[in-house]
Amino acid sequence: MVDILPSVCPRCGKPSVGLCRECRAAETAWLICDPRVESIYCPVCDSQKHGKTWSDTMVDRETLIRELAVSALHLHADVRGSEIVISSYDPSPNRTIARMDVSGTLYGVPVSGECTTKIVWRKEQCDRCNRISGGYYEGIIQVRATDRKLSGREMETAARIAEQTEDVLQEGGARLSFVSKIDETKDGLDIVVGSNQMGQAIASDITAALGGRLTTHPKLVGEKEGKRLFRITFLVRLPRYQKGDVVVQRGRYVEVRQTGHGQLQVFDLQDGTNRFIAEDEAERLVGNVGEAETALVAYLYDDIVGILDPKTQGAVECRVVPWLHPEEGGTVLVLRDPETRLFVLVG
Ligand SMILES: [Zn+2]
Ligand SMILES: [Zn+2]
Repeated sequence: MVDILPSVCPRCGKPSVGLCRECRAAETAWLICDPRVESIYCPVCDSQKHGKTWSDTMVDRETLIRELAVSALHLHADVRGSEIVISSYDPSPNRTIARMDVSGTLYGVPVSGECTTKIVWRKEQCDRCNRISGGYYEGIIQVRATDRKLSGREMETAARIAEQTEDVLQEGGARLSFVSKIDETKDGLDIVVGSNQMGQAIASDITAALGGRLTTHPKLVGEKEGKRLFRITFLVRLPRYQKGDVVVQRGRYVEVRQTGHGQLQVFDLQDGTNRFIAEDEAERLVGNVGEAETALVAYLYDDIVGILDPKTQGAVECRVVPWLHPEEGGTVLVLRDPETRLFVLVG
């Protein structure tokens, strides 16, 4: 006995070995759509919840609607080259109706169809906003200077580093790496952060940018799910002197060029030489070259440079320094020594 296959389609009678392609396509439920999809989002920061996980929304609303609508659509695995055109409208503030016109081919037969899904927008406070509003934090970076106040420049640099680190970490997906506040206190700057990895990163970067020493002081604050919870204070102790400070050492004016490990690399403003001195050898602070005033050079005579006091315009004489070559009618940078009232040429 030999099986003879029928040579016509059992449905439509067209010549075919078994069910023809058209009838097979017509019999297949290739387009199924869930009637509703839910999208949980945070009303404060627009984060989206997928399952139990929150993530920042990186796309615009139109793209999000498209993604949600397509997630409701279930195409048969044999559909090829599908194209989906979506149109949507909002019947109410928390509802969006998305209509999808779908076309493609199934078993070589062109197919098209449409379906509609309702997107339900549900508000929920996200993990990050919940922590921020609840005052949650893991670490504090305390920026302090040794025996002086923090300068405006140091405050700005430290705050900028904190903000940049937050941006980089959050763009990399570390949602809970947030700076919850930056406070200027009478002692310095306090930066409160949501994660200790972030605290470590910010504190190290501040130390690298401004010098000084970093120490960490963990404190056990409790336990959560069997894990011990620590709050860490990152103490950044900035050096007594900053770059650009002009100090007096053994009666000479020197400019601090580099600091670290209790040592100062200084530039001697009298003879233009560089050397290292111990921090303790600096007797007193005159000012910082960043605050220097511009003075007009009125005349040059032997080793004397005559400048005009920028405040009074009266003539003042200073000794010429070998590393500076002022010209008559040009300008120089000067610092006023508050103790001796003398001008110090700094540039
Ligand atoms: Zn057929
Ligand atoms: Zn949020």
